[in-house]
Parts: sequence; structure tokens; C-alpha cells
Amino acid sequence: MIGIFAPNEDVARMTFFGLYALQHRGQEAAGIAVADGQAISMHKGVGLVAQVFTPGVMEKLSGHYAIGHTRYSTTGSSSERNAQPFMIETMHGPLALAHNGNLVNSSELRNELMQQGVGFSSSSDTEVMTMMLARNGGATWEERIKTAMKKWAGAYSLVILTRDCVYAVRDPWGVRPLCIGMLPSGGHAVASETGALQTLGCEAIRDVKPGEVISLSNNALKVMQALPSIKPSAMCIFEHIYFARPDQTWDGINVHHVRQRLGEELAREVVNGIGHEIADENGRFADVVIPVPDSSIPAAIGFSHVSGIPYNDGFIKNRYVGRTFIEPTDSLRKRGVALKFNVINENVRNKRVVMIDDSIVRGNTTGPLIKLLKNAGAKEVHVAITCPPIVHPCFMGVDMGRQEDLIAHKRTVEEIREHVGADSLYYLSVDGMMKAVQRTDGFCQACFTGNYPIPVDLLSVKTGFERGTK
Ligand code: SF4
Repeated sequence: MIGIFAPNEDVARMTFFGLYALQHRGQEAAGIAVADGQAISMHKGVGLVAQVFTPGVMEKLSGHYAIGHTRYSTTGSSSERNAQPFMIETMHGPLALAHNGNLVNSSELRNELMQQGVGFSSSSDTEVMTMMLARNGGATWEERIKTAMKKWAGAYSLVILTRDCVYAVRDPWGVRPLCIGMLPSGGHAVASETGALQTLGCEAIRDVKPGEVISLSNNALKVMQALPSIKPSAMCIFEHIYFARPDQTWDGINVHHVRQRLGEELAREVVNGIGHEIADENGRFADVVIPVPDSSIPAAIGFSHVSGIPYNDGFIKNRYVGRTFIEPTDSLRKRGVALKFNVINENVRNKRVVMIDDSIVRGNTTGPLIKLLKNAGAKEVHVAITCPPIVHPCFMGVDMGRQEDLIAHKRTVEEIREHVGADSLYYLSVDGMMKAVQRTDGFCQACFTGNYPIPVDLLSVKTGFERGTK
């Protein structure tokens, strides 16, 4: 998700490049809306950024203000009508909105609006938010946004486009990320990750704080603390474990370094646990540490460093096949594993391998990866996961499906080991995970612990969820 105000610049093209840097956050659909001070023009469609935005399409998008979005489904199906941004005409002028996160009370808000005669063209909570903004009273968009924020419960980082302003909005819990920076030309840009801002040459980058609304327009940057931030905050720890690019830094914490420390903590726990029990006369339980690329590479480096087991590449990933985690259906996901990875046979043949992966959600990919290693001649495959078992679903913007879909909800660690065909299986503890982020609080860990930072009516939110993830 990205928002840009840049006078005298081709903002549509800048947004395109920003979205390119954020492609890993969603591969189902992409959209860009651009305003020129009078009207908003928009294009969106199903596919990767480069597929949706051809040169011919880009020519039609001109203006100084823009927002863009890459989508993977959290609520709503992955169909074209759920692609973002959402745009409508209102009595205050045109309005477009893109959303990262998930409202936990969207069904309730949707029903309220429907009872008032409002119709919907999609099943997305983003459309609910757009309609609420359009109907709210207030002299300015800032006031209307603030009024809506008081009713929204859940995770929302938003970019909102009007005919002459871009607004950046972050929920008071700070669940999903959003950061802002200054463009070399004098304008500003906001994005889900700093990598997109760096791509655009931004400086003076900082996080949009929980509860803030920031306006980017000709009248310079305006910062409003619309709602008090909730303490402690509840930034999604899974962004660090899996979702974000490793060059990302939030609140001074760099994702690559966190992942390296996750691997180090995991190695300490494994070596003192099962590793100790099954170690050979040299004190080692494996001959080589290999990562499941890409997000587990820093963790495997950290694991190797602490355990003393040499690191090597075992899998070669086809980078042109999308991330299995964010593909929308089980059948696509299963096909994706075989399409995506090849093994460097020489690096694993006759070896005891410890495979490092960032998470096991449904358990669909771990088994096939182990099979690939064993078919390539690995003697043993031990699996070490850089987070605790995922036992609870996410209601705040990461599509983990329903609780009954989560393998760690249905099975013990030993049963999972057997199911995936590993010689041993180890998960990082919650304590180890928190040591790696070097904080004692400030993170949501609800998918591991069940302690949701936002009260969740499990039954009402369930209707909005789609099946997905690995
Ligand atoms: S439940 Fe898990 S994935 Fe969802 S916001 Fe919390 S930490 Fe992130």
C-alpha cells in the first residue's frame, strides 16, 4: 500500500514503482488511483503489478496525488470486485481508499449501513469503510475520518485519496505497519514498508504513529493525533517473522536482524533440547543447515552461527512463482511447492539436514519440502521453525484461515512431525521469539497465544474469512 503527493512529478509512475517494491505483500490484484486537483482516475485488476499496469494504462493516469495497493485476501474473496482502491463519488467530491488490515466489527457495521439502505458491490471490509467515510458528517475529511475511526475496531492502515489530498491513517493499536518519508522533490510518500519509500528516494523516514491521521497536500504535511494510541501497542510480530522484506526497519528494529536472532534463539533451544539428545560424538545432530528461501535465510545464518553446523543452500527457488502463503486456494498452494523449489542434490546427499522455516500454518508445504530433500538423498531431515506453533487464527489482516485449518490446532508437535515426515521437529518458544525482537511487549502474538489485543467476537468475524495460507 502506498500514497504519494508530489507536485510536478509523474505520481502514477512513482506509485507503480512503489507497488513493485511491495509486490510480496499481495499478488492477487493491484490498483492505482490518481487525482489532479479536480477528479480521480483509477485502474485496478487481478494479477501482478506489471501485468495490471501496462504502458497504455499508465498513460491514462495523471495527477499529483496517488494511492496504490497490492491485494491478498483477508476478508472478501479474491475476485476482481474486491481489488483495491475502492472509489466512490460523494457529496464532498470523489473518494478512493486502500486498506491493509482487517476490521473485526465489519459485519456489524455493514449490517448497520444496509439497514440504512446502503448497497454494496463487494464482500470487502474496505468498502464498508469507504461508505462510512462518505456518509459521515463533518466540515473536513479529517473530521469525517476521525468520526469513522471511533467506530472501527481492528487493524487498519489506510491511504485515502480525495481530489486534492492524500491521507495516511493508522489504527490506535498500530497492528499493521505504515511509514512516511520526504521525497527529494519536496513532496511526501507513505507506504507499508520503508523499502518502497527508499525505492522512491525518500529521506527522513518515520513510522506513522498509532492513532495518527497525516494529510499530504499543497498545504504541507499536517499531523493529527485523531485517537489516543493504545498502550502497549500491538504491532503484528508475524510481519517480522514472515511477511516483511528483510530491509524493513520499524521502530528502530530491522527485520533481517530480527530473523537472524530468531535463528540464534532457536539454535540455543534446539541444541539444549532434542539436539542434545540426538547429537553425534562431535556434539552435532546435523551436517548442514539449509533455509527455506527467502524469508528463512537470515534465520538459518543465525542458527548456523550459534549451533556451529555449517550453513549451505539446499533449495533453489523459482522467483517467478508467487509466494505460496498468499495464494488464495489450497490446490494452487499445493501445486506451487513443486513448481517453486528445486534441490541442490550435492549439498544434501548423504547428509543429516536441518531445514529452517519461518512458520507452519496449514502444514501443506513442509511435507513436500522434506520429500524433495529425501528424494535428493538427504539421510535425515530435522525441521526447526522460527516461531511457536500457530494455534489461533488471525483476525487482523493475515489470512491464516479458520482455526480448524491450522495444523497446530488439530495436532500435537509429535503428530505434526509424523504428518510432515520429519526426523525431528522443533518450534521456537514465545520467550525466544520476544528475545529476538528485543522487546517485552508492544507486539500482537495472538496467533501463538490466543491473547487478542482487540476484543474479538469470534463468531461474527468468521463469516468474512477466506481459506488460504501454507
Ligand atoms: S494474530 Fe498473529 S498474524 Fe495476526 S496480527 Fe497478531 S501476530 Fe500478526
